Amino acid sequence: MMYCGNFEKNLEKCNCSYPGCPKKGKCCECIAYHRERGELPACYFTDEEEKTWNRSIEYFMTRRR
Ligand code: SF4
Repeated sequence: MMYCGNFEKNLEKCNCSYPGCPKKGKCCECIAYHRERGELPACYFTDEEEKTWNRSIEYFMTRRR
C-alpha cells in the first residue's frame, strides 16, 4: 500500500482534537469526508472553535460575521 509522503508533515500541522480519527494526517480523506457532509475540516477553524467539533459551514460563517 502507498502512503502519503506528506503524512508526518500533515500531522504536525493538524489542529484536530477529535480522538482516534483514522483520517488524521491524511488530508485528502479528511476533506472528502467533511465535504460529503457539507462541512469543513478542523484546520479551517481556530483551535478554540475546533474544540466544539462543530464542522458546519454555518458555524464557520457565524464566527466570522
Ligand atoms: S477534521 Fe474530521 S476527518 Fe479530519 S482528522 Fe479531524 S475528525 Fe478526522
